[in-house]
Amino acid sequence: MNPVTLGRLKVRKLFEMESGPPMPLILSGVTPADLGRLSAWYQDETLGATAAESAFMMSMHSYVLQVDGLTVLVDACNGDHKHRSIPDVDRVQTPFLANLAALDLSTDDIDLVLCTHLHFDHVGWNTRLDNGKWVPTFSNARYLFSRRDFEHFGKQEVEDDHLRAFRDSVLPVYEAGRAELVEANIAVHREIGNGVWLEPAFGHSPGNFSVLAESAGERAIFWGDVVHHPVQLVRPELTMSFDTDPEMARETRLRTLARAADETLVCFPAHFRDPSAGRVLRDGGTFRYRFLG
Ligand SMILES: [Zn+2]
Repeated sequence: MNPVTLGRLKVRKLFEMESGPPMPLILSGVTPADLGRLSAWYQDETLGATAAESAFMMSMHSYVLQVDGLTVLVDACNGDHKHRSIPDVDRVQTPFLANLAALDLSTDDIDLVLCTHLHFDHVGWNTRLDNGKWVPTFSNARYLFSRRDFEHFGKQEVEDDHLRAFRDSVLPVYEAGRAELVEANIAVHREIGNGVWLEPAFGHSPGNFSVLAESAGERAIFWGDVVHHPVQLVRPELTMSFDTDPEMARETRLRTLARAADETLVCFPAHFRDPSAGRVLRDGGTFRYRFLG
């Protein structure tokens, strides 16, 4: 993705890795007609004529948002050395920090880390391993975490990757005194001076939020995991397998896509492959996407 400038905002993508599980594992109900419709505006070598022949290919990346001297990291990918049950992301080592350096930034330059939600693929780089201990990666940053997600995963008893991520990538930041637990619509808005704020986008996780940013009449949305893959613009009503509350997630997805189209938001999806950024357009009763550039 080329850097995107919107008024005083500058947005760059920080790539970590890609992962492509079989499509039916993540989204069931995609038909050959849906894939045909998708292919009119989205070509991807991991898509076949049927869902069974297709991967649900996702990019894992962060966005670096800079405005008025403030450098914000939106989402924090998987992180290195983290034990996970999913082989694709288990104890990975990726060029994430080298890619950060390629943006002429060091970990010390990040002022604020915003995790749209606390799933393992959005919190990993919050911490790094230091002499066998997990410590905050971005030593000067404040980290904003969704209070609803923090309380949900903090109480969870089932040992899964989200709980592992809570323990190795969220709790150490909180215990180091670097985290603020926030409700959507509150904290960031005041802190950054009307330019960047959080809105509720609950459903995929209990406290998932979208990050909105505005400058000079241009408005951007970082929608976290409200939408994962372009095929969901063709079939936004289908349930995604990691949605905590499928009905609420569906409503949030439909509302977000409609708004993105009607308000011509510049979208920065958490998992669309390069060039990632783009705009949602209405397409009959459903949607399509036009990548920037
Ligand atoms: Zn995700």
